[in-house]
Amino acid sequence: MAKDMKKGSVIVIQGPPASGKGVFGEYISEKYELPKISTGDLLRENVKDATEIGLEAKKYMEAGQLVPTELVNKLLEIRMNEDDCRDGFLLDGYPRTLEQAEVLNKMLKPLNQKVDLVINLDVPTQLLIDRVLFRTSCPDCKKVYNSKFMKPIAEGTCDVCGGKLESRSDDTEETIKSRIAIYEEQTKGAIDYYTEAGLLKQIKADSNDQVPVKKSIDEFIAEIK
Ligand code: AMP
Repeated sequence: MAKDMKKGSVIVIQGPPASGKGVFGEYISEKYELPKISTGDLLRENVKDATEIGLEAKKYMEAGQLVPTELVNKLLEIRMNEDDCRDGFLLDGYPRTLEQAEVLNKMLKPLNQKVDLVINLDVPTQLLIDRVLFRTSCPDCKKVYNSKFMKPIAEGTCDVCGGKLESRSDDTEETIKSRIAIYEEQTKGAIDYYTEAGLLKQIKADSNDQVPVKKSIDEFIAEIK
């Protein structure tokens, strides 16, 4: 574990779709050796494997709507209780609502854990739309690319594992607009909740330069008490 982080920290990374949650989440996870739990990835794996939860979740995801909390919680609770999460973890894409923020506290209590830091990535809407339309990711190792702003070395191929890059079926202009609107409306409760708790840190991520964002992330993580 990097020496600049309190042991056992639970960090949440928040931001609208395509705000860089995936990329900066990866950065935090690797640098601070925190397992990253992405509810979007957990759901997509279940859709791919056609599990009962996946089949139910699919229709909400394709419509750009939030999947019912009970379904997401079932997947999250199993993952949070795995051994590698005992020394803290990073949540990407959860909690999305006030209800989920409250449920998360309840799920963390028996594990003697609590949310230590919530990072909110603040990105202008038009930039989000442009990013989504050019986004690709590796289905095998989950690394995210952008065919305009963050290209892989060889077109269509993952730099890390050689996987064949794919676009997400929910990455269309119509769906992204709906997802941004839903994100703003529904996360407001969770954002207000963490603001009041003094845990929310805003980071402006309005260019495609990752360096200043990473610097702010490191500063906030070093401040965790
Ligand atoms: P993401 O990869 O985080 O953008 O999530 C993709 C989709 O998965 C979202 O548009 C939702 O349909 C669903 N999803 C991910 N996380 C959650 C969550 N915490 N609550 C409800 N639905 C979620």
